[in-house]
Amino acid sequence: MARPLSVVIDRHRIRENLRAIRATTRIDLIAVVKADAYGFGAGEIVEAVSDLVEGFYVFTLDEAIDAHIGERSGKPVLALAFDESIDAKVYLRHHVRPIVWNPRQAARLRDARPVLSVDTGMQRLACPARDIDAALRAGAIDEAFTHATRIDQVDRLIELVGRRGLKLHAAGTALLDDPRARLDAVRPGLAMYRGAARLATPLVETRAGIGPAGYTGFHADHHGIILAGYFNGLRPGPCRVNGRASRIIEVGMQSAFVELTPQDQPGDEVVLLDDTLTESEIAREWHCSPQEVLVHLVGSSNRLYSP
Ligand SMILES: *Cc1c(COP(=O)(O)O)cnc(C)c1O
Repeated sequence: MARPLSVVIDRHRIRENLRAIRATTRIDLIAVVKADAYGFGAGEIVEAVSDLVEGFYVFTLDEAIDAHIGERSGKPVLALAFDESIDAKVYLRHHVRPIVWNPRQAARLRDARPVLSVDTGMQRLACPARDIDAALRAGAIDEAFTHATRIDQVDRLIELVGRRGLKLHAAGTALLDDPRARLDAVRPGLAMYRGAARLATPLVETRAGIGPAGYTGFHADHHGIILAGYFNGLRPGPCRVNGRASRIIEVGMQSAFVELTPQDQPGDEVVLLDDTLTESEIAREWHCSPQEVLVHLVGSSNRLYSP
């Protein structure tokens, strides 16, 4: 069987990250634990942080039910109400408040205290301006939010649903540092998980390069092999070997080539992600978002928790 790598997850670091977010924002925290907590394990993360937050956010109701998020934490869980056949009672039973984006959903799920998703530009799973009043009335709604990555989207939320006594939130990680985006709560995802995963694997082979190597015929004076490949979510990009910045030159299904110096030996550790080689640094070279790096690397690994 193909072997996943082991990633070590530092729950204490995640708690520290949340405490730091609280210290700067001084408002309610809704911890985003969708996609199995970005690969960190939704059940374990909810267990580890529920005393520090006011609620949780997931994408689907199933995610909340499978990880027992409401039951474990006793805190409200927000989940998008995709399946129209599911009754308000199911949401209530699992401490889930359905997120709705049209008057029909709002009316159907009124008893489960729905939350309105407001379209401020994303044009996805959110209520357009013309339907807002009807949706608020139909669901007796007291909380609304938008998915904002820019401050003008926050301004638009306030323009559309401000000054009505609703609890409002907009900011994920991208807007945490902007006081105008904080409103009544923030929804950090990435900012919770930063620096909290360590992924490393030993060199199994090292050698001096003789002419073109690998699938792509690359040239390196010295290179080594690790047993991690795209099966493990890895891509060509930065890594660290013996405390030094190095590179993953080429990635195969379950192995990869690493650029080395003559001093590096089999058994030496190659760091693929930790608090000195961050998901943001990797994301720049992979040309993707830091969230995507976490889901790839942490999400395809076997999780170990410390402490
Ligand atoms: C994923 C998500 C977040 C968190 O985003 P980050 O950028 O990872 O902090 C916040 N709100 C909503 C609605 C989301 O879907």
